[in-house]
Amino acid sequence: MVDFLLNDEQKAIRDAAREFAEKEFPPVAEKYDLNEEYPWDIYKKAVKLGFIGMSIPEKYGGQGLKTLDACLVVEEFFRVDAGIGMILAATFGSEMIMMFGNEEQKEKYLPPLAEGKQICGAAFTEPAAGSDVAGIQTKAIKDGDEYVINGTKTFITNGTVADWFVVLARTDPEAKKRHEGMSVFVVEADREGVERTKIKNKLGIRASDTAELSFKNVRVPKENLIGIEGNGFFQAMMFFNTTRIPVAFQAVGLAQGAFELAFAYAKQRELFGRKLIDFQVTQDKFARMRTMIEAARLLAVQAAIQADTGMPDPGLTAMAKYFAGKAVVEVVDEALQIHGGYGYIGEYPISRYYRDAKIMEIYEGTKEVEKEIIARSLMGKMPSKIAVLRKPPYM
Ligand SMILES: Cc1cc2nc3c(=O)[nH]c(=O)nc-3n(C[C@H](O)[C@H](O)[C@H](O)COP(=O)(O)OP(=O)(O)OC[C@H]3O[C@@H](n4cnc5c(N)ncnc54)[C@H](O)[C@@H]3O)c2cc1C
Repeated sequence: MVDFLLNDEQKAIRDAAREFAEKEFPPVAEKYDLNEEYPWDIYKKAVKLGFIGMSIPEKYGGQGLKTLDACLVVEEFFRVDAGIGMILAATFGSEMIMMFGNEEQKEKYLPPLAEGKQICGAAFTEPAAGSDVAGIQTKAIKDGDEYVINGTKTFITNGTVADWFVVLARTDPEAKKRHEGMSVFVVEADREGVERTKIKNKLGIRASDTAELSFKNVRVPKENLIGIEGNGFFQAMMFFNTTRIPVAFQAVGLAQGAFELAFAYAKQRELFGRKLIDFQVTQDKFARMRTMIEAARLLAVQAAIQADTGMPDPGLTAMAKYFAGKAVVEVVDEALQIHGGYGYIGEYPISRYYRDAKIMEIYEGTKEVEKEIIARSLMGKMPSKIAVLRKPPYM
């Protein structure tokens, strides 16, 4: 992290996160990756130390950390292991409550997350609609004081471990425009009609839980509606404006970790009677990697600082995530290359970094989607509702 930008408190947060990750993750990282198992023991320790729910306001039991401060922890966790680092996603979805929930909902849903008694998830993606959020087909039809939800969500992080999800569904299937007539609900995992199926054999972040969710006539009370009926699409876009920033930091942390592994390896590997690091071609690789990481980090920091003004900028956020994703994929590729065959056969952790990195260009908006957002904001084509509503009310 760029030290000169941080105050003493931020440095203390960063150092505590680094110490925790370096001590706890390496002994078990391979086991959780191989077994595709949620790292409950590390999650529990992280709760005790206050790393879970850091952004939840103090009023609701969290620490009320600003975006940049919370992202310092993200970077440090992902620097050591991305799969385990995903425990920080235990509160993924809470942003929707913080931004759009009413007081009653905040008091109900946020404290159990901050205390580590509950985990949540955010369910937007469907088998036939990922990037095309406006194409979702899950329906929530009003019936008296309840909504009846039917549909399927897929690739949902924390799918089988979460206690509840924020779910985007169509409340007005007849709406004239595709992005209209959608709303967001809290759906508790133990409601009748909710089925969850773990998705196994992912390429990377295998300690993170991913699942398909099926909703068959699931009834939720009208009190579970988050925000305004019909505004779901815009709420989702604003949600991503803030949650994409930590993903940029995930990528920066992962790239930093891969860089360090490769640098250490190149300094000790001997060939042709010299150290690998002494070859100019190798030095060129490190110069490029280092530059990519620092540039990605500064863009991510800029997006976080912008968000902390209370006005996250969709274009800037998209640039940060796009560039950090590109940087990490390039860095892990070179970092594995530097390890030669030893990197490929999985004898070193670098192969895990290589597998983990690709998701950074896919989830929470693919690199193509990010570029589209950058171009739209460049041309002043962001939907006006998102431009107007972009201030997260919890800040
Ligand atoms: C491990 C994992 C965890 C995830 N966690 C969650 C979660 O917690 N909650 C959730 O809701 N979703 C989650 N997702 C889903 C993720 O956000 C989607 O996979 C992603 O948005 C892409 O959607 P898709 O897979 O349907 O691909 P598609 O949208 O079908 O895209 C296929 C390809 O087309 C490209 N493309 C799309 N639009 C355009 C365009 N306009 N122009 C050119 N190319 C385009 C895409 O970039 C991509 O390369 C997760 C996915 C994974 C793999």
